[in-house]
Amino acid sequence: MANDIITLRDALRHTAGRSAVSVGLTVVLTLSLCLLQFGPDPDAVVRVSFVTKSSLLISTIISGLLTAALSFRSALTMRELALTRAELQRISGTDQLTGLLNRRGFDQAAEAALTKARGGNLPTTVLMCDIDRFKAINDQFGHDFGDKVLISIAEVLRSFAERRQMLVARHGGEEFAVLMTGVSKERAAQYAEELRQACAAEAVLREGASTNVTISIGLAESHAGMDLAKVMRLADQALYAAKHRGRNRVVRADVLADSIAA
Ligand code: GH3
Ligand code: MG
Ligand code: MG
Repeated sequence: MANDIITLRDALRHTAGRSAVSVGLTVVLTLSLCLLQFGPDPDAVVRVSFVTKSSLLISTIISGLLTAALSFRSALTMRELALTRAELQRISGTDQLTGLLNRRGFDQAAEAALTKARGGNLPTTVLMCDIDRFKAINDQFGHDFGDKVLISIAEVLRSFAERRQMLVARHGGEEFAVLMTGVSKERAAQYAEELRQACAAEAVLREGASTNVTISIGLAESHAGMDLAKVMRLADQALYAAKHRGRNRVVRADVLADSIAA
């Protein structure tokens, strides 16, 4: 629906226009009815009761019709606003380059998934995935090719997560987050390893040649009462360890904690 009411002045002009139509219609119709009834003679004797009743009837009909039209129009406007708000919310939670959820969208969806999983006493696992030596890829082949790599890796993650009903997002520049619920620790680690291999096997085409990239993954599981920020932090620490140990690998936060404690 086109909307040319932008300023307060537009709104006042619009209201004045509609009021003028309503008043004008009432006056014209009442006068026409009187003219029909009593003729055009200005000195004709008129019956006040007729004039009162007809003007009451006409103004009731007109105000009823106008109210119905305005209510319908405002209902359409409200519907349009609700749709626009939903679309804006979707856009604000989506990463423009890859079409995955962005950090904001992920955090919202992940909070909800974590709360639901806690209610059902299900385990929740977070994977923090980061492309290895991505700066060097940008430096060597250019930023546009870097973007192409991001899109390809995002596609691998999307198809991997979709098949298993996991949440996946581009959480930062070349960092992706995956959240899975109801999956055991061992199974989650197996999934992470499969994901690492799938990314490593993905060849990104570049002017006849192709490039392979790898990712490092940090895995953390939520324990009783642990909030999302804490699980993400643990997954981040595990990711950091994966980088430190040579990249292109999965590190589990629980195994990391055990090795630090030992
Ligand atoms: P590491 O293996 O330790 O993760 O090294 P790295 O080079 O991947 O990490 P670093 O943090 O040094 O560099 C990340 C680079 O990602 C730097 C930044 O320019 C690039 N980057 C972030 N967002 C985008 C993007 O949207 N497109 C492109 N092409 N590059 C991006
Ligand atoms: Mg990186
Ligand atoms: Mg990074």
